[in-house]
Amino acid sequence: MSKPGPVRLYNSLTRRIDPLEPVTPGRVTIYTCGSTVYRYAHIGNLRTYLFGDLLRRVLEYLGHEVVYVKNITDVGHMRETGEDPILTAAEVEGKSPREIAEYYTAAWLADEALLNMPRADVLPKATEHIGEMIALTETLLERGLAYEVNGNVYYDVSEFPSYGRLSGQRLDHLRAGHRVDVEADKRDPEDFALWKLAEPGRLMKWPSPWGDGFPGWHIECSAMSMQYLGERFDIHTGGIDLKFPHHEDEIAQSEGATGHPVVSTWMHGEFLTLADAKMAKSAGNVIRVSDLPDKGFEPLAFRYLALTAHYRSKLDFTEDAMHAATSGLRRLRRAVAEGGTDGADVDLAADPMAGHRARFVEAISDDLGLPAALAEAHAVAGTEDLTLPQRRALLLDFDRVLGLSLETPAEEAISELPDGAAALLARRAAARAARDFATSDALREELAAMGVEVRDTPEGQVTTIRR
Ligand SMILES: [Zn+2]
Repeated sequence: MSKPGPVRLYNSLTRRIDPLEPVTPGRVTIYTCGSTVYRYAHIGNLRTYLFGDLLRRVLEYLGHEVVYVKNITDVGHMRETGEDPILTAAEVEGKSPREIAEYYTAAWLADEALLNMPRADVLPKATEHIGEMIALTETLLERGLAYEVNGNVYYDVSEFPSYGRLSGQRLDHLRAGHRVDVEADKRDPEDFALWKLAEPGRLMKWPSPWGDGFPGWHIECSAMSMQYLGERFDIHTGGIDLKFPHHEDEIAQSEGATGHPVVSTWMHGEFLTLADAKMAKSAGNVIRVSDLPDKGFEPLAFRYLALTAHYRSKLDFTEDAMHAATSGLRRLRRAVAEGGTDGADVDLAADPMAGHRARFVEAISDDLGLPAALAEAHAVAGTEDLTLPQRRALLLDFDRVLGLSLETPAEEAISELPDGAAALLARRAAARAARDFATSDALREELAAMGVEVRDTPEGQVTTIRR
């Protein structure tokens, strides 16, 4: 592919699906708000990071160069309670704040690796960018957008007229609904901290023109995104819960400091819901990706599950959904394994592969339509239009986006199957796809005679082997 393929994305700021027009054509710059590293990232957090990973993979598949930055918030930000979660965790666990941050950063990245998420190009740590945050705060003070009181610096929201545009909040409504604030020295309840004076005995603090203190949370992301991606970059992602106030405040800071729009497209991923009490139960009330094998699931089945819902839709994490994801994943792996080991000479641009590939590309280019792309992968796995090596080649090509390690043998399905059974299963899947139930039933009998029992599920055939 010489020229990168066009892609359309939903922009939370314009509330439209717009064509992506990178600041530098062919090169897309992305910033994702990363983890605050004082506890384990749970599978809901991982769903959000998976959405960033899919965005990156889709753009790369379409031929764009991607520069991907994902920060690490390793300095705790004040909560409404006035507590800093990293310092609290350090106290509870008897470790230093740095030890806490390093431990949970490693755990987070290990969980991401289990889901086949390559590391970002840059993983900047907040604690290594305090100077940039101070400089940005100084700029905002110079421009009359911030004020200092007793060593605290606040953003003056009333000086930024478009405040609330991203989240659709109106300042007068926000003011009316505001709860009691721990920061009593602010001029307006909606003003937010850029810099806080360190309380006596605080472990994490840095010198600044306003005395020893620490940065606000929002200023971290303004400073680090512009440091690595410049004053105009393409895409900023995060969970839907970050839209307000975090991203609203980031816009006020970055645009306030530069005097122009900084981020072209804001994208937000929806929640994972844990309605299934059995699945939600875990030690410490947090389900990690690395807990999934104990529940009988492979981590990549969770990645598969995430592909079944659009990133802007809520997704239910249930035992049934994970079972369905597991069998869907096995079906694709089986189709890849059946294609043999060569097939490198398959020309994906030739018919009939081109049509399947065009539908896959259309799906992913339309605001990351992964559910449709996954359906196309299943169509490839089950069609008789393609030879087994052709199916394999196409599925491995799609896997550059899906990230499901489809070349991994589907252990139960492949290694234990008697000789010839895999080919019969493929023929049977094709017969079912063509609604040829007579052939399908005949093949079921043949398989049963070999000791392979077949059950049909919405995600495909599930086999049980009788020795
Ligand atoms: Zn952020």
